[in-house]
Amino acid sequence: MKKALEEIAIQIEASKKQGTYKQSQVLTGSMGPVVKLANNRQVVNLCSNDYLGLAAHPEIIERSKQALDKFGNGTASVRFICGTFEIHLQLEEALAKFTKKQKATTYVSCWNANEALVPTLLGPGDVVISDQLNHASIIDACRLCGSKSTKLIYKHNDMQDLKQRLEEAKSAKTILIITDGVFSMEGDLANLPEITSLAGDYGAIVAVDDSHAHGVLGETGKGTTEHFGVEVDIITGTLGKALGGAAGGFVAADEPVIELLIQRSRPQLFSNALPPATSAGAIAALEILECEPERISKLHENVRYLRKNLGGIGYEVIESPTAIVPIIVGDTARAIRMAQRMLEYDILITGFGYPVVPEGAARLRAQVSAAHSRDCLDKALKAFEALREECLS
Ligand SMILES: *Cc1c(COP(=O)(O)O)cnc(C)c1O
Repeated sequence: MKKALEEIAIQIEASKKQGTYKQSQVLTGSMGPVVKLANNRQVVNLCSNDYLGLAAHPEIIERSKQALDKFGNGTASVRFICGTFEIHLQLEEALAKFTKKQKATTYVSCWNANEALVPTLLGPGDVVISDQLNHASIIDACRLCGSKSTKLIYKHNDMQDLKQRLEEAKSAKTILIITDGVFSMEGDLANLPEITSLAGDYGAIVAVDDSHAHGVLGETGKGTTEHFGVEVDIITGTLGKALGGAAGGFVAADEPVIELLIQRSRPQLFSNALPPATSAGAIAALEILECEPERISKLHENVRYLRKNLGGIGYEVIESPTAIVPIIVGDTARAIRMAQRMLEYDILITGFGYPVVPEGAARLRAQVSAAHSRDCLDKALKAFEALREECLS
């Protein structure tokens, strides 16, 4: 083997020895609150982003199938060549309405949407200001600006620090503040009231990635802006979490911003469009969300139940309306071991360690769904109770 490749193999071996090697569970059925593993084993699923239980919803599957029949397997083209289908425009109209923005455009993922947005929007001398705990796709999106724009990072949700970064940036033509709406590893919310107010003072554009908030927060599931009752300039989000659990991402904003992305953003110019069946499924998910807001209240009831009872058996959980409940256990190997122990109790949950979270802050992350029955949650709580000493000592 070539020396460079040998070194890669050594790294992988080392991560296995350290207990930090990630092993995926393989599902043998559809996504849901209870999932099937090999040998028909059923486990309670406490780690999917299927917050509203729509990933295997019959109506969504049916609508995807219809689009598959009508439009075929995929676009075999990027959007601007011959890959724009009427179903894309329908989805984008639905997304603009959902986000209360003039226009929206889609990508094959929110990862791509973020990587499209930041470098396309910013030019020489512009500044992007990003929360320290933003999603990896935002971090990479900022890196893609290269040296032409300045990247400034503020301490997580620290508004004093954000103000200082804005001071540093204030002579720039364009300042973009970008943040997760719900932070995926903490389950806390960006302080949008303060962020939008500071942005107003400095004439900065605000972009919020509401991937973990769409379908989850706000009375009608429109996300953190609805939760706080504030407006932001640009919203990005995923179609792979609450909104049907398949794939796809989008940017919604005023028309000129979306026009610019359609004209110039590289992930849309050089990569295939969202498959029509996936687009149709996402439209169906948005419709279900609108017609069945009780899914959101059910989710919140489940979130309150899990948080309250985890607290009751001695776990420290922060108060938050989000469906993400982190349980900090310290080092990466322990987080991974705890996840394995939970599986012995038929609970599927993921341990996250470095480099996904900072060294020493490894955790189990529980994610609640509207589709979880009380039984599911009680089963999970029993496992947490049994493993409390191992988890927290
Ligand atoms: C999950 C997530 C993404 C990635 O979404 P995909 O559509 O799966 O690429 C982007 N941003 C945030 C904040 C996320 O939580």
